[in-house]
Amino acid sequence: MAHLLEVEDLKVSYKTYQGTVHSVRGASFTIDEGETVALVGESGCGKSVTAKSVLRLIRDNGEIETGSAIRFENENVLAMKKRELRHFRGEQVSIIFQDALASLNPTMRVGKQITEMLIQHRKISSEKAREEAIEIMREVGIPDPESRFDLYPHSFSGGQRQRIMIGIALSCKPKLLIADEPTTALDVTVQDQIITLLRELQDYNNTAILLITHDLGVVANIAKRVYVMYAGQIVEEGTVGDIFYRPKHPYTWALLKAVPRLDDDTKDELASIEGAPPDLIAPPKGCPFAPRCKYCMKVCLEHAPCRKEFDEIHAASCWLNEEGAPKADIPDFEIEHGRF
Ligand code: SF4
Repeated sequence: MAHLLEVEDLKVSYKTYQGTVHSVRGASFTIDEGETVALVGESGCGKSVTAKSVLRLIRDNGEIETGSAIRFENENVLAMKKRELRHFRGEQVSIIFQDALASLNPTMRVGKQITEMLIQHRKISSEKAREEAIEIMREVGIPDPESRFDLYPHSFSGGQRQRIMIGIALSCKPKLLIADEPTTALDVTVQDQIITLLRELQDYNNTAILLITHDLGVVANIAKRVYVMYAGQIVEEGTVGDIFYRPKHPYTWALLKAVPRLDDDTKDELASIEGAPPDLIAPPKGCPFAPRCKYCMKVCLEHAPCRKEFDEIHAASCWLNEEGAPKADIPDFEIEHGRF
């Protein structure tokens, strides 16, 4: 069966005064109908650029390079004309961003922002759009939506604004929702409420979700499969179980070690990943994680690691997984992270 979304060998670059930045360097991934897939990695690893590429939102000095492929229900997204793109964005795929206040128009009443989307994409009357908008506000948990319909965004809390953004994004019942760091600007309790809301709406509408996040804790609560991204490349992919209990890449190990744990009663400092990602104007020829990796070998500096598949879903690109590689003192994640 064809995937809902299929991204193959995606390469995105930006022209800058310093040179061309190769932000995404051959990323491939799929999402099936109704599935939640997470794309995780540090800031600047290319995950948001990947998300924007799916909606063809790369503008100005950015470019999706030739040879990249993005297919949605087998349709070539990169070949879509303006009109098809308008239908694709909003009706097939929607996106929500981290900063709901910046995404909502501060000078327009919230209810109008929802009805505009409904009228534009569903071609319904303004009365019907108002009724539906109030229902959407209720569904995403805005109390007393009838009387709050005419309020401006600043009258809502951060969590409520994100709920409204989710309502707008889902108002046309898209098949895929891209959620780009949807909980980052919120406190932990509200984060949890937003994740619960996304999960409920997904169950109800069977919407697939591509969750972009740097927070593995959020991933454990919602995703089925995970892609780990580093320096514009997917370095490991697998089910949530693979990534949390059987990770095969030193970068994934480092990300897992940086997750705060409620049951950790030691006074140890939270592990951070030393060093910085490589310069993507001149990406290294070997493994991009090499300068930060304590397992780095000579081969890692000279040759990019090959992708090794452990089963149909789990794969990683690291020389340590090759036959004959030295045995690393791999952290025992089954024990350390068994709680997830
Ligand atoms: Fe570390 Fe080498 Fe694996 Fe890269 S390929 S993550 S440098 S061990």
